[in-house]
Amino acid sequence: MQIIGINTLTLLDFPKKTACIIFTPGCNFRCGFCYNDEYVLPEKLKNYESNMIPEEAFFNFLETRKGLLDGVVISGGEPTLQNDLIAFIKKIRKKGFLVKLDSNGTNPAVLAKIIKEKLVEYIAMDIKANPENYAEIVGAEVDFAKIKESRDLIMGAEIDYEFRTTIIKELHTPEVLQGIANFVKGAKKYSLQNFEKKNVLNKNFLNYTSFKKAELQPLANIFRDSVKEVIVH
Ligand code: SF4
Repeated sequence: MQIIGINTLTLLDFPKKTACIIFTPGCNFRCGFCYNDEYVLPEKLKNYESNMIPEEAFFNFLETRKGLLDGVVISGGEPTLQNDLIAFIKKIRKKGFLVKLDSNGTNPAVLAKIIKEKLVEYIAMDIKANPENYAEIVGAEVDFAKIKESRDLIMGAEIDYEFRTTIIKELHTPEVLQGIANFVKGAKKYSLQNFEKKNVLNKNFLNYTSFKKAELQPLANIFRDSVKEVIVH
């Protein structure tokens, strides 16, 4: 398993659990707002090649966290691009840790296996935009049928999950958000994550703005009739 980064403690990313986060390299999207561009862009990844965390070192670390952490969040990049993801998750579980997986939903075949074998306790899937604007916002070609398939698999699974969107004032208009609300209709949980101007993949995105605090609640209300729980970050 390729591990490019680790955050040794998070109290926020795995709901109601203490966890560490590992980051896998590479992604098939190029979202301009991506905060992890050093884990996504091949030209930046090159700088990390010699700093990859060996799997053995990660499991040695995990051994020291027994009784201290509940679980492991696997994030990226896009973790489902890793060929040995399933075997890796099984190893984590064998050590007694719970697993949360972050995914952009482009690989339903892998998600189906993970769900069928009950290998994770939680999945967070990004919904980047309404169907019409998807390709533009992810900066790449999208097989939207796969996004739909992943949505259906996750909503039909007996596990906790959330769909989530990083929202940018100039891009995520009320109409776009209504399109997303329609797409996730019936979901258990949906998170709106306000865009932060920090390290972004496409520097043009530094010209975009986040929503003001007072603007967020009306946006959350767009989702009230579609999903059971809406969270605003
Ligand atoms: S935001 Fe997620 S899906 Fe988009 S490029 Fe970054 S890692 Fe990939």
